[in-house]
Amino acid sequence: MKRREFLTLSTITAAVTAATGAQENTSGTTRKSDDMAASYVTETEKRIPLAGDYDVCVLGGSCTGVFAAVRAAQMGAKVALVEKQNAFGGVATSGLVNVWHTLQDTEGKQTIIGGLTKEIIDRLGVIGAVAGKSDYRLNTEELKIELDKLALEHRVTPFLHTLYVAASIEGGCVKAVFIESKDGRQAIRAKVFVDATGDGDLARDAGIPFNVRDGLQPPTTCAKISSLPKGFPGLVAKYRNEFGLVEDRGWGGGIPGAPDGLQMCAYSHVFNTDACNARQLTTAEIEGRRQIRAMMDIARKYGGENNKPFLGSLASYIGVRETRSFKAQYMLTEDDVLHGKRFPDAIANGSYHVDVHDPVKGGFMFKNLNGTTVTVAPGGTTNGRWREPTAVNPTFYQIPFSTMVNRKVDNVIMAGRMISTDRGAFGGIRVMVNLNQVGEAAGVAAALSASGDKKVSDVDVQNVRGQLSKFGAVII
Ligand SMILES: Cc1cc2nc3c(=O)[nH]c(=O)nc-3n(C[C@H](O)[C@H](O)[C@H](O)COP(=O)(O)OP(=O)(O)OC[C@H]3O[C@@H](n4cnc5c(N)ncnc54)[C@H](O)[C@@H]3O)c2cc1C
Repeated sequence: MKRREFLTLSTITAAVTAATGAQENTSGTTRKSDDMAASYVTETEKRIPLAGDYDVCVLGGSCTGVFAAVRAAQMGAKVALVEKQNAFGGVATSGLVNVWHTLQDTEGKQTIIGGLTKEIIDRLGVIGAVAGKSDYRLNTEELKIELDKLALEHRVTPFLHTLYVAASIEGGCVKAVFIESKDGRQAIRAKVFVDATGDGDLARDAGIPFNVRDGLQPPTTCAKISSLPKGFPGLVAKYRNEFGLVEDRGWGGGIPGAPDGLQMCAYSHVFNTDACNARQLTTAEIEGRRQIRAMMDIARKYGGENNKPFLGSLASYIGVRETRSFKAQYMLTEDDVLHGKRFPDAIANGSYHVDVHDPVKGGFMFKNLNGTTVTVAPGGTTNGRWREPTAVNPTFYQIPFSTMVNRKVDNVIMAGRMISTDRGAFGGIRVMVNLNQVGEAAGVAAALSASGDKKVSDVDVQNVRGQLSKFGAVII
């Protein structure tokens, strides 16, 4: 029997064993499997084909991941980009969330964000796929295509429909990652890895310590809906009991150039969900869609005779706000954000306020950069009129590179919502215009680490800042 056939056979045997809970021993008698007794199944050891050797491998292809891959490639690195969905963009495309916040400080005087965020806004602008001069509304489908183009223009090797599943680690260094796709299980070898999975799947496997905060911000299933009745949120608040909805509050808004008043709607919340728990994630997906159906039913029943609300599309997956938070060399705090602390290793700037969705009962808590707090109750009442801060000092905050690396692991850079923050800082930095810059910095640092054969935590951050600046980032 050829080795390949043998491996296949033994894998099938393991599956049958798992299903029946029994196996034949050498004497032909049936005994209870040790694996079943311990509630696990031993995977047969096998040789995994190599999908490629790269300088930099980026896991997760949201804008954060794509921007990391593109910057690494511009630095001369050979780059792989692995994404489990069929398109790049993450929450900004497959999740349907189409708002990018301002690229300026809170006074609207100083530009604090540039780089690939600005480039993508400009590129989408040419085809009318972006609206707004300060906060931007994007066409999520056009963004998917633009990200494809961007990655290919820079010779990034894309792996779509490909899930990162495990890593081969030796002495604090990730030697290779295992991926699964239609081709089966394969490995990618690289000198440096950027974890842009949002949840930090590689960082977890590499042993970087993390915590899951009590009271995670709840996920939301987004939808594109047209012909919603006037005062739709009020109708939902009034008739929610009849349709099994709890008191809550969300938001919705336009899509550039969309016909028939098609809107992006983020009105649902699935409370008490840890989206890194597979069971809870499954339950949340189904519950999120049920909530959308309930809201559609309210619109159909109480929206008036002339209204024909139409559910155009559902997000490919529920939009996850918060899961694991990792320990890096530095943890950014709410105080740092609210006081606009400056860092010598700053690689990104932000002016979006602290914004925490209540984990269990709907409503939000906002904190201004001048410290003013506004809570918005589920029913919509506030403890004060919300307004963007004006004439406050500081007018922006910074994200340092030290929130993205941990000395424990030589060659993994974290980029995205998993970077090291406390709850309040997370509420501010989590928005996309901020994390886009984190991605760009991760790409530059990864390429420098790979070419200089240096640990990621030993990369010269002033060099990273200099390169980012050359690429059009705003480095202050
Ligand atoms: C409903 C909702 C509304 C929001 N509203 C706004 C808003 O209006 N404006 C704003 O700026 N921000 C908003 N946010 C926050 C913002 O969208 C997120 O914080 C941000 O997108 C996180 O970026 P990320 O790159 O870390 O993760 P993600 O965008 O989640 O990207 C992670 C990527 O990694 C991929 N991935 C994950 N695991 C694996 C794996 N094992 N293998 C391969 N690929 C993997 C995912 O498919 C995804 O493409 C909102 C978030 C949600 C959920």
